[in-house]
Parts: sequence; structure tokens; C-alpha cells
Amino acid sequence: MTFPNREPLKGFSKGVKIAAKARATVKGVLTCEGCDQPIPPGTHRVDHKIARGLYGSGLLENAQVLGPCCWAEKDAADNLVVKRCKRIEAKHHGFAPPKRVTIQSRGFSPPREKGSPCAPTSKTIPRRNGQSSGKPG
Ligand SMILES: [Zn+2]
Repeated sequence: MTFPNREPLKGFSKGVKIAAKARATVKGVLTCEGCDQPIPPGTHRVDHKIARGLYGSGLLENAQVLGPCCWAEKDAADNLVVKRCKRIEAKHHGFAPPKRVTIQSRGFSPPREKGSPCAPTSKTIPRRNGQSSGKPG
């Protein structure tokens, strides 16, 4: 997918990573550019200030060296923003996600055919022996 007037998504080149690490090294100690804390060896990341997903460039100006103190939070926040922006951009270009079909119930069964209202019920109840018919007399 290419967009006009935008650089293709690129990671950092080795040269940019080396330059960013050199910039973040203070007195021989690699420090986090987010919080200025020393970074434990082997745990740093060269991170995009403007995320790649938001068309941040692969140039040194967009690079920052972060330790685990900062990149975990930044990653989570960036991912949310990137997802939202991708959805908005897709919608803008007419690629909205399909509308979800709601699940419907089967509905009521069709009405049964009714007999005439004067017809006897299915079963006639026999009268009990020795009792009056209910009429006074
Ligand atoms: Zn940090």
C-alpha cells in the first residue's frame, strides 16, 4: 500500500541506530532518552518518536533510545493510536468494516388454525352419578 506524499514505512538503518546509541551514551553509560535513567545492558530499544504506523520517518531525528522503563508504556499507547488512525483512514477511503449482523431470534411460530368458537372441546366430561344437574328444583 503506498500513499502519495508519504515515505514508505521503514525501520531504522544500522547507521541511525548506532548514531542514536552514541547520542544516548553519557560518560560510557547508555541512558534512556525518555527518563534519563541508565539502561541495563541488552534491554534498550531504538524507538520511533512518531510511530512507524503513523508514518514516522526512519531518520535520526525520529529515533530515541528507550529502556524498558519507557518503551513498554509507549508501545501500548502507540499501538492504540495507530489502530484508531488506521480505522479512521480506512473509513475515509471508503473501506469501512462491514456492518455486523445482529443475531435474531427465530420469532413466533405461525398461528394455528382454530375451529369454530361453538365447537365442543376435544373431550367431553361425563356427568357424575347421583348428583343433580346443577339446576335448582
Ligand atoms: Zn525510561
